[in-house]
Amino acid sequence: MSRIAYVNGRYRPRAVAAVSIDDRGYQFADGVYEVIEVRGAALVDEDAHFTRLRRSLAELRIAPPMEEAALRLVLREVIRRNRVVDGMAYMQVSRGVARRDHVFPAAGTRPALVVTAQAVDPMKGAIKAAAGIRVITMPDQRWKRPDIKSTSLLPNVLAKEEARARGAGEAWLLTADGNVSEGAASNAWIVDGERRVITHPADGSSILDGITRGTLARLIAEMGLMLEERAFSRDEAYRASEAFVTGATSLVLPVVAIDDRPVGDGRPGPVATALRAGFHGAAHHTPIG
Ligand code: PLP
Repeated sequence: MSRIAYVNGRYRPRAVAAVSIDDRGYQFADGVYEVIEVRGAALVDEDAHFTRLRRSLAELRIAPPMEEAALRLVLREVIRRNRVVDGMAYMQVSRGVARRDHVFPAAGTRPALVVTAQAVDPMKGAIKAAAGIRVITMPDQRWKRPDIKSTSLLPNVLAKEEARARGAGEAWLLTADGNVSEGAASNAWIVDGERRVITHPADGSSILDGITRGTLARLIAEMGLMLEERAFSRDEAYRASEAFVTGATSLVLPVVAIDDRPVGDGRPGPVATALRAGFHGAAHHTPIG
């Protein structure tokens, strides 16, 4: 079955789907994106992802590419056409196609929209979670607005590649004062000896306010655990009982080593494991239809 992508008004075979070389997303990374999990033919936390998309667009003053109701239909159509039951859907909006010039293009330039979807076997994630991942720490070299889900991901790409080269699954990014802000493509969490769950605050500028993070915060309260939204240092992370990362595709993924130091007993911890097990029960599911 050939895979289908939606590109600026047309459903195209993915292998030949293309954007203009003058797309500002291509030229300047002048765009935003969302990744939404598809689980059992339903979208996970769809409304929260659309709320964040609206915010990212507004922060960068990019017009919505179409009415939101229409975009939700396109998203569903792409998922259906690709027969995705479990996997992920991707939406990217750029400021549009215009002759290369840093300043915004003329008013009325249409934002460009790409929507794709792909199947992912949930077993793969389950196997990865059972083993846990290793993380490395690196300086956070991103711009000062990582709260915007922008396609400008070069520092994240370099951090992830460094992690891969060093046999790790994620890089935790360190602020100038030695605190862990988040992962290159996930939010970062630790659990202390008192079973307090700690993550950097989503203060509107220093981290991406993960949708998975938000759902997990509710689940943590439901499970009677204590959540502390505060900065934590790399040294505190080294001493943590547990650590894990969250994201729409990784869900809750235990961390078993930080910079080659085992976390706790070096195996996925009970809190992270319980949070992963409870995650989909706490998330909102809207059927693809
Ligand atoms: N932080 C960064 C830098 C990310 O790229 C992501 C996801 O891609 C997240 C956090 C987690 O966000 P979400 O849970 O919305 O996927």
